[in-house]
Amino acid sequence: MSIKQLTIGFTSARISSVAEPRIQVLSYEKFRGMGHYRIAHPDFFTHGLLSMPNWTDNFKGLFNLFLQSSCPLCQRPTTQEFCQDCTRQLQRCQRQNYCARSSAQLPVFAWGVYGGALKRAIAALKYENQPQIAQPLAYWLAQAWLNTNAATPIVVPIPLHADKLHKRGYNQATLLAQSFCQLTGLSLQQHGLERVRDTAAQFELSAKERAKNLTKAFALGSAFRRHAPAKPILILDDIYTTGTTVNSAAQTLRDAGIAVYGVVAIAATEKL
Ligand SMILES: [Zn+2]
Repeated sequence: MSIKQLTIGFTSARISSVAEPRIQVLSYEKFRGMGHYRIAHPDFFTHGLLSMPNWTDNFKGLFNLFLQSSCPLCQRPTTQEFCQDCTRQLQRCQRQNYCARSSAQLPVFAWGVYGGALKRAIAALKYENQPQIAQPLAYWLAQAWLNTNAATPIVVPIPLHADKLHKRGYNQATLLAQSFCQLTGLSLQQHGLERVRDTAAQFELSAKERAKNLTKAFALGSAFRRHAPAKPILILDDIYTTGTTVNSAAQTLRDAGIAVYGVVAIAATEKL
C-alpha cells in the first residue's frame, strides 16, 4: 500500500478507540462502502506499515490533523470514538455485576445497564447509521468477559431479517460480535441462525399473537444446517430486555439439539 493511498484513507477515516490515548488500528479497508474507512491494527505504529520511528511521529501528527471527527452522541469534535464527556457518561452505565440473570435457564452476561448514554449509543448504532459505535462497545463487553469468564463457546449474533438488513445496510449484532470475538478470541459463527420472520410487524399483533409470532422468528442458519457446532452457543444481541427474542433464538438451537451456553449483550435492563 502506498503512502498516497494511506493519506487518502486517513482523510476519510473515523478512528475507533477504546478510551485509550493510543489509536486502535486493526485493518485497513473501506468499511461497508459507507464512505469511511476502518483503520485498526493494535500494533500499527510499532509493527505495521509505519514501523520506521520517524514515520511514526509524522503520521501521528497526520492522524490528529485528519481524524478529528464529531462525537456520534453529542457532535462535539473528538479524535476518539466518543468525546471525553460521553465516554465518562457511557462508563457510568457499566454494571457492577455483569451477570444480569445468573440463576435463570439462560444466563445473561451484560456489560451495562440499559439507559442514559448507553441507550443513546445503541440507538445511534442501530438507527442513525453509525456502525463504528459497535467496536468500542464490543471491546468494553469483551474486556469484561475476559476478566470474568474462561469458557470458550461459539458466538452467534442475533440475525436481522433480510429486509431489515437490506434497509439498514448492516446488522449491529454481527458488528458487535465481530469486535467481541476479535478481542476475546472466541469463535464467531455469523450464519448459525437465520431470521425467517420480520418481527417489526409485531406492533400490530396482540400479546398472544406476538408470542406465537416470535416462536417462529428464527431458523437454523446455513452453517449449522451443514455441521452441528462442536461447542455450546453464546447468543449475542445488542440489548437484553424481556428476553423474548433471545429465548426464541435459543429454543430454535435447542430444538436442533444444539446446546446454548447463554446470552451476551451490551446492555440489559436493570431489573429483569
Ligand atoms: Zn460526545
